[in-house]
Amino acid sequence: MLQYTAICNTPLFDSTIKFESGTGWPSFTQPIKENAIKYKKDTAFGMVRVEVMCNTCDGHLGHVFPDGPEPSGLRYCINSESMKIETASADL
Ligand SMILES: [Zn+2]
Repeated sequence: MLQYTAICNTPLFDSTIKFESGTGWPSFTQPIKENAIKYKKDTAFGMVRVEVMCNTCDGHLGHVFPDGPEPSGLRYCINSESMKIETASADL
């Protein structure tokens, strides 16, 4: 199983919650843990979006949109350059 982690090595997303959104960006329905990320309203470029950041190092990860699949209905659109992909150990 793959873990998607921030620059600081905090596990944030997991390949089992990844889905194909058709945007070309890694897209997830939810983080591994509710408190792994934090949210900030982003009004750049004349749009109101919700920025998602690593709760550990404040690193920018991407944005979350309310048009994802069930059950969460959310789409975490993550900048792959802000993430690293690691193979998780079996005991996680
Ligand atoms: Zn971090």
